[in-house]
Amino acid sequence: MNKMTVFAPDYYTGFRCIAGACRHSCCVGWEIDVDPDTAERYQTMDGALGEKLRRCVSMDPFPHFILSAGERCPFLTDQNLCEIILQAGEGLLCQICADHPRFRNYWSDRVEIGLGLACEEAARLILTSPHPLRLVPLSVETEEEAEIPSEEESALLRRRDQLLASVSETGPPARLREYLIYRHLADALYDGRVTERVRLVDRAFERIITAWDGRSVSDLIEIARAFSNEVEYDDEKLEQLLTAP
Ligand code: SF4
Repeated sequence: MNKMTVFAPDYYTGFRCIAGACRHSCCVGWEIDVDPDTAERYQTMDGALGEKLRRCVSMDPFPHFILSAGERCPFLTDQNLCEIILQAGEGLLCQICADHPRFRNYWSDRVEIGLGLACEEAARLILTSPHPLRLVPLSVETEEEAEIPSEEESALLRRRDQLLASVSETGPPARLREYLIYRHLADALYDGRVTERVRLVDRAFERIITAWDGRSVSDLIEIARAFSNEVEYDDEKLEQLLTAP
């Protein structure tokens, strides 16, 4: 059996967190859960960083960073840099911090990774990409065995390809629609709601484009980022977009 192949949009490998230059840091306003393995590691760390990690990570009811004033991560410095990375490197980040703003979709024979619009640097890369969405294989080793896709799954992939091929906008609005298709259609793998997810893409697109009203590309990036922040991580709001008449 072959291992799964990992695919990502071609702009993916160009992503770098802009850290201190970020105007909407993802380290502000989000209560971040710490995965159990990392939480256990934090419990056994030596030195001042270990002490602070134990002080600033609550284990109740599950491990998470205790936000400071202004809902800032307690490890975010005044220069908006991550104290954990500065002192110990990225290897000590918990899973969510290491992953953000990436998302993953698991098909039977491949894993697809993407960047989410909620991050302003990712939104800039996505919406200013000079050509239509292009998935490229990454040279990443996976443990998972590839399986033969079901007929339903192959049909979903064909539907997605059709939708991507029929994008009629140009420039950043086209990139936005492609992103929404790439981000949201694959969830039908888990719930089978293909038609609703196609509608969700249309509604999300209309909402962002209406708010944008043809202004500058940087306005579109900011409106799309704010939409993603508000809706794409909120199951209730996503459900409203899925089911709205
Ligand atoms: S939102 Fe994006 S660019 Fe800003 S701090 Fe987070 S990962 Fe970095």
